[in-house]
Amino acid sequence: MYQAYIGLEIHIQLLTKSKVFCSCRAQFGDEPNTNVCPVCMGYPGVLPALNEEAVRMGYVVARALNCTLSRRTVFARKNYFYPDMPKNYQISQYDDPIGRDGYIDIEIGGRIKRVRVHEVHLEEDAGKMIHVGDASLCDDNRAGTPLLEIVTEPDMESGEEAEALIQEFRRMVRYLGVCDGNMEEGSLRCDANVSVNEAGKGLGTKVEIKNLNSSRFVRLALDHEIERQKALLEEGRQVVQETRLWNENRDVTESMRTKESAHDYRYFPEPDLPPFVPDEAFFAQVEASLVELPLARKQRFLSDYGISVQQADFLIEEKARADFFEEAVRRGVAPSTAAAWLAGDVAKLLNRYRVELDASPLTMDRFVLLMELLQKGEIHGRIAKQVLSAVFEEDKDPSRIIEEKGWRQLSEEELVKVVDEVITAHPKAVEQVKGGEEKPVGFLMGQVMARTAGRAHPEKTREVLLSRIRGGEG
Ligand SMILES: [Zn+2]
Repeated sequence: MYQAYIGLEIHIQLLTKSKVFCSCRAQFGDEPNTNVCPVCMGYPGVLPALNEEAVRMGYVVARALNCTLSRRTVFARKNYFYPDMPKNYQISQYDDPIGRDGYIDIEIGGRIKRVRVHEVHLEEDAGKMIHVGDASLCDDNRAGTPLLEIVTEPDMESGEEAEALIQEFRRMVRYLGVCDGNMEEGSLRCDANVSVNEAGKGLGTKVEIKNLNSSRFVRLALDHEIERQKALLEEGRQVVQETRLWNENRDVTESMRTKESAHDYRYFPEPDLPPFVPDEAFFAQVEASLVELPLARKQRFLSDYGISVQQADFLIEEKARADFFEEAVRRGVAPSTAAAWLAGDVAKLLNRYRVELDASPLTMDRFVLLMELLQKGEIHGRIAKQVLSAVFEEDKDPSRIIEEKGWRQLSEEELVKVVDEVITAHPKAVEQVKGGEEKPVGFLMGQVMARTAGRAHPEKTREVLLSRIRGGEG
């Protein structure tokens, strides 16, 4: 029996307006090399100045990850040469990171698993190399943007658990508003380390895997790497400590370089930045920035509202959705109704129009109004679905759509009138119903629906139809 030990190193770009040690804009997608200055380009004689907003965000994440927060956090130089790093060193943290010894709970197959967090530290990002034909171009817009690194302990055992952790962490930082979590654009990046050993024998030889730019690749690469290491051990061979790259086109990991260790970087305390010593007001701000996190919210939704797991999963995926749901409930919509509509028809429309709820034409007022009309019986379910589609298509209020399209439900009186017309027009079917046949009831109901363009309430129609036919028997 073999056991795998997986740890993750996750980097997130913090959503600050400016870079972490200068006032350049921290913005994705701008014209290359326009957001640069002597500080982030590493000119001689310049001095970095710490962006406190980035530090606050770092503390918020560390706090959300249940870390012990540093009362004095220190920056360090990590020395290495690479063309996308104009200073030839990166300002990072080594001895006194923002937070240590935390944990994150993830849900795996319906049970909760706790993964320990080793540390959370703040650093600056590098620039970006762009390879065009046989030339390499460098864009330094990203150099010096704030990057938060989260290092977990090797507590995960499968690609599935690592994928679940990435997804939970991504939701968490989006809830906290500190990162957009976009793995494709690189604002959330992940490296993994994995070792395999005989069960009970502790960690094996660690291999690091890079280039994991989606949570699915994290799972695939780790599952592949675990199998590769198992196969080596079964043959009595040794696993080499190295860094491997995930090749997404071939679904394999490939050797990149043998692993460097910390002393290769010759870390030393950054002489140009004093340690950051947060005061009580700063810690109070950090506390005030915390929100109920997605997993806790899911558990509360399940126990408080009695909705399904699938509905809860849909609602908690985005904070705006969960807020929307709770606001609708606060305004009187039954939780089961709100959840069913949001995770059902609304979800389909959001998907079709590729829009998120808070940017869609379905405002809170419109949703609540539609649910009220439904609950008061002024429209029935099928019409409500049509109205909802029209809200997305035409960006109008439900009441106006119902008015313009003439979709208001028939009154009892109008319904009786149409039912009587249908009964008169189809004497043969009426006779069959009187004889106890069920099929013609559906036919007659269809006729009522056709004459009313679907505005009649189906159950009520059936009721009126049967009572008018049986009433005629006497
Ligand atoms: Zn700059």
